[in-house]
Amino acid sequence: METNPIRVCELLVGLPDVNVLGVDDLVDEPLRVHVESRVERPGCVECASAAVVKERPAVELVDLPVFGRPARLVWRKHRWECPIRSCRVRTWTGEDPRIAAPRLSMTDRAGRWVTAQVGRLGRTVAELARELGCDWHTVNDAVMAYGTALVDDEDRIGDVTALGLDETLFNRRGRWRTQAWCTSIVNLAPDGAQLLDVVAGRSAAGPTGWLETRPVEWRERIRYGVLDLSGPYRKVYDDILPHVTQIADPFHLVRLANSKLDECRRRVQNETLGHRGRKDDPLYRARRLLTKAHERLNDRGNNKLVGLLRAGDPRGEVKTAWHMLLCQGGLMRPDREASSGLLRRRCGGGGRLRRRGGV
Ligand SMILES: [Zn+2]
Repeated sequence: METNPIRVCELLVGLPDVNVLGVDDLVDEPLRVHVESRVERPGCVECASAAVVKERPAVELVDLPVFGRPARLVWRKHRWECPIRSCRVRTWTGEDPRIAAPRLSMTDRAGRWVTAQVGRLGRTVAELARELGCDWHTVNDAVMAYGTALVDDEDRIGDVTALGLDETLFNRRGRWRTQAWCTSIVNLAPDGAQLLDVVAGRSAAGPTGWLETRPVEWRERIRYGVLDLSGPYRKVYDDILPHVTQIADPFHLVRLANSKLDECRRRVQNETLGHRGRKDDPLYRARRLLTKAHERLNDRGNNKLVGLLRAGDPRGEVKTAWHMLLCQGGLMRPDREASSGLLRRRCGGGGRLRRRGGV
């Protein structure tokens, strides 16, 4: 066990080659730990003369909390001066990237920590600023500085077998709150998806441009391209990755099938009764049962639905659409045998799905 008080302080502060000068403990303020670098007198880079200390400026840096209390590192730097009057170099400040990167107002270890919190755990900058007891910009500047280096790292993107493209509403802008979309480019690895990049817009241009910057060999190793049912993303795969098998994302398939069934129900409702659904109309009463997954529908629910469809769907159109939805659900189950059995039962024999366009 270390019992030398100076060494104990150094161990607790945990920075290399520093002298701990003292600690400020003011009520309701972060703990301020004053340190200085243990340095030898440097030589001037121009004329190699031994430098002299001109000033000892104190730079206050946001540091990691100490035993649950926000902390600041007050780093008494060395401002050096070349003693030779005629020398081109006048003064310079001693830096140590192990303590802090120049121009950032956060220590190196705190900068790495906030970047990991935002990048890995999805915490917000505002939340971290509150935890460290500092300004939002201080945290954001550090996340940008450390994060940019990570994003630009060439080795960040490994081999990808299945690539996914998906649109996300990024934000709403301006007076009319215009929707601004972005496209997420995702590595759909079996051990967990990884977001590779986000590009502006939801047209083909963004992902196309991004993929064009990737090496040809990298693109050739992709085997599957996952997409929602949008034309632009299909175009991206058709143009840039024509060799991949395109796979529709189940979420979008289910959503599309549900909306088609809904559309069909409303159309039949209008054609048979001449008005929009009212609370006693059979098709209106059936609307929730129709979208319920079949395995969650008990016998009573099933009988009720069949009865309502018999009453409100004379040509069996809604029933057909509903069966198609069930078939689709069965197809997407991992158990293929169960899927084909369900298909046979629902579609009668052949089990071949037709396009939903006519439903
Ligand atoms: Zn000099």
